[in-house]
Amino acid sequence: MTKTNSEALITNGIRTDQRQITDLRNIEIEVGLLDKANGSAYLIWGKNKILAAVYGPREVHPRHLAKPDRAFIRCRYHMAPFSTDERKHPAPSRREVELSKVIRMALEPAILTDLFPRTGIDIFIEVLQSDGGTRCASITAAAVALADAGIPLRDLVVGCAAGKIEGQIVLDLNDVEDQKGDADVPIAIMPRTGAISLLQMDGLLTQDEFRQALDLAIQGCMTVYDIQKEALTKKYIQLEITPPASDTPEEPVTSDTPDAPDTLDTLKESSKNEEEVSE
Ligand code: ADP
Repeated sequence: MTKTNSEALITNGIRTDQRQITDLRNIEIEVGLLDKANGSAYLIWGKNKILAAVYGPREVHPRHLAKPDRAFIRCRYHMAPFSTDERKHPAPSRREVELSKVIRMALEPAILTDLFPRTGIDIFIEVLQSDGGTRCASITAAAVALADAGIPLRDLVVGCAAGKIEGQIVLDLNDVEDQKGDADVPIAIMPRTGAISLLQMDGLLTQDEFRQALDLAIQGCMTVYDIQKEALTKKYIQLEITPPASDTPEEPVTSDTPDAPDTLDTLKESSKNEEEVSE
C-alpha cells in the first residue's frame, strides 16, 4: 500500500479517501449483465469490483450431495490474480475457502431452500478488484444475483462493516483502514426482520464500542439495501413498462403469454420474448 505507518487515517474528521467517519464508499449495482447465468449482479463498492453469478435450482453434481428435503447451496468466493496489488495465486487460498463458507452461511437463511428439494443452487463470486470489505460486498452482490435468478427469498441479504480507526468508530473500512485500524466488524442482515446472518470481529473493542460499531454497520446495511432494491427495480420495472418498439411487427399473442407478469421469472421470460421480437 502507498501509505506509510506515520500517515494519519483521520485528519479533522476526514478519512484518507475524503469520507467522513459515518460515510459509505460510493456503491453501484448492475443487475443481470451475464446472459449465461440464471441471475447475476456487478457491484462497484468504492474500489472493490465484484461479479456474482447464480445458477439453479438445477440438478446437483455429484448427485450424492443432493438433499432430500431442500436445495443444496454451493458458494465459491474467488479473488482474481489481478485483484490485489501483488499478483494473487489463482488457486483458492485458505482465506477464500473460509470466505466461501462464511458467505454461503450468510445467504442461506434468506433462501427458501425447502421449495426445491434435491436441487442445487450455485453462487459464484469473482472479486475483480479488492480494497477491503469484499466479504460484505460479495454478500450484497450475491443476494441481488439470487433475486435476479428468480429464486424465492425471505428477503435480500445485505452486508456492511464498521470498525475502529485511531480511536474512532467508523463505517465501511477500506483496505488501508482495515490493515492499520484497531478493529473491523463485518455484518450481514436481512433488513425486513433485522436478523443477523453474519457477525465477525477482527481486533479489540470495548462493549460500548462494539455496540456503536454494530449500530453503525446496521445503518450502513439499510442504506445499501436501498441501493440493492433500486438496482432490481430499475431492471424489472423497466421491463414491465417498456412498450414494444413501434417499428417492429407485432408478435401474435399466444395463449400462454402472461397478461400481467408478476414474478421475476415471468418478467424475465417476457423480456426475452420482447428481445426476440426486436431482433
Ligand atoms: P475483506 O475483503 O472482507 O475485508 P479481509 O479482511 O480478509 O477480507 O481482507 C481485507 C483486504 O485485504 C481485501 O479486501 C483485499 O483488498 C486485501 N487482500 C486479501 N487477500 C489478499 C491477498 N492474498 N493479497 C493481497 N491483498 C489481499
